Amino acid sequence: MPVFKSMHVGCRSSANRADRTDRAGGAEIVGLWFAVWHFGLAMLALLCFGLGIGLASVTAASAQNAVTGMRVGMVTIDEAPGLRLVVETVSPLQAQLSLLRDPYRLIIDMADTSWQVTTLPRRGDLSVGPASAYRFGVPQPDTGRLVIELAQPAAPVRAFVLPPASGGQRFVVDLVDVGDTAFMVAAAALKKNPVFSFAQIPADAKTASSATTAITRQMKLPKSKSALLSRRSAGTGKAATAPQTVPTRKNRRWVVFIDAGHGGKDPGAIGKAGTLEKKITLGAARDLAKKLQATGKIRPILARSDDRYLRLRERIRLARRQQADVFISLHADSAHSSKARGISVFTLSDTASDKEAAALARKENKADLIGGPDLGVEDPDAAGELLRMFQRESMNQSSQLAAAILAQIRDMPGGDRRGHRFAGFAVLKAPDMPSVLVEMGFLSNREDEKNLRNPAYISKLNQRLTTAIINYLTAYGPK
Ligand SMILES: [Zn+2]
Repeated sequence: MPVFKSMHVGCRSSANRADRTDRAGGAEIVGLWFAVWHFGLAMLALLCFGLGIGLASVTAASAQNAVTGMRVGMVTIDEAPGLRLVVETVSPLQAQLSLLRDPYRLIIDMADTSWQVTTLPRRGDLSVGPASAYRFGVPQPDTGRLVIELAQPAAPVRAFVLPPASGGQRFVVDLVDVGDTAFMVAAAALKKNPVFSFAQIPADAKTASSATTAITRQMKLPKSKSALLSRRSAGTGKAATAPQTVPTRKNRRWVVFIDAGHGGKDPGAIGKAGTLEKKITLGAARDLAKKLQATGKIRPILARSDDRYLRLRERIRLARRQQADVFISLHADSAHSSKARGISVFTLSDTASDKEAAALARKENKADLIGGPDLGVEDPDAAGELLRMFQRESMNQSSQLAAAILAQIRDMPGGDRRGHRFAGFAVLKAPDMPSVLVEMGFLSNREDEKNLRNPAYISKLNQRLTTAIINYLTAYGPK
């Protein structure tokens, strides 16, 4: 799908359910204004202004709430260009968000809400961040629907409401391209949680300040309508930026992020014979990468390919930036009891499955303390209810991945009895990516330590992990 489309071609090329319902409600549109402030690209992209004035409203008067304005702008989220959408309404908004694909789009259904807006066509181009077009209508009486078409698999990463400033109530959604897997996680989570109340204020102060800045800048209107309209006619309706090529699934491999535990000044566990966990995990990660690469279906990415220290959240950030389909963290820790041995597969949970799992998670999470105060990375815990909702969905997916791994290691030490376990591992807190931590064995156990130092054992385990990952992605990954 092209990134930028002219208003009419773009609208007709995407015949789908939302389109049809939009058309059905076409007579009810009063119009609205829509200013685009594209501050990543100087002098570009003020569009969608004027036209559509004076269309009669049929049922709008019966709705309790009304959209009185909308604005879009560009926000940068974790170094990726995103779309900020602001919907102004008379009363606080009850919005239901859905994500659909073919084409990728966000649908915002607003119960008991009409359109009381002026001077905007009910559909048009929207080349801001991941958005390519918009349209709005009334699919059924008293429901206002806004559809944002997306050139990439973008999902909302923040959604919140702001109290009235000079205008009405403001509902804010930030969308960013998160990759196919995170899109699927978000779509499934939104489907399961149709009634979702948005936080009154952004979850943390950093979000709040960026929101205020962006909105203030978006409030600047184009200098004159005529200048805007002449720019559009001269440019044949297309933005002046080169369209990006969006790779299709066919020519893309699944991305598996392999996180070798510990590194640098954090040695991890130390074995009875002096084996350092950080060395075992790095060797195993490299070998797993080779095996995954050899399948021809996977592009492996290593969190670290040398002996360096990485914070836990930095590992998550690197994986999300690569839009990984799977996050696998490799460890070989120690336990109080030297009898504890064998492979365990962990996923994230608020409550630990057992005391040993809780103790392991506590120990793993201490890796971050070695690096001193962490000021630079946004805490996934503070990212708000929307991401927590996605995280719950990705925890379900992580359990499927863990089950796929356990099915492959039944005949290996611990594989027959330790099973799937869970605890609050910080490194597994990616909100929108299936994540598992594989405890390859205990360096506090002599037999395990011997195995972990044996390349043949690591190779056998990695072969099993490779099969499990392929099985999981084939069943649940993006097609
Ligand atoms: Zn570890």
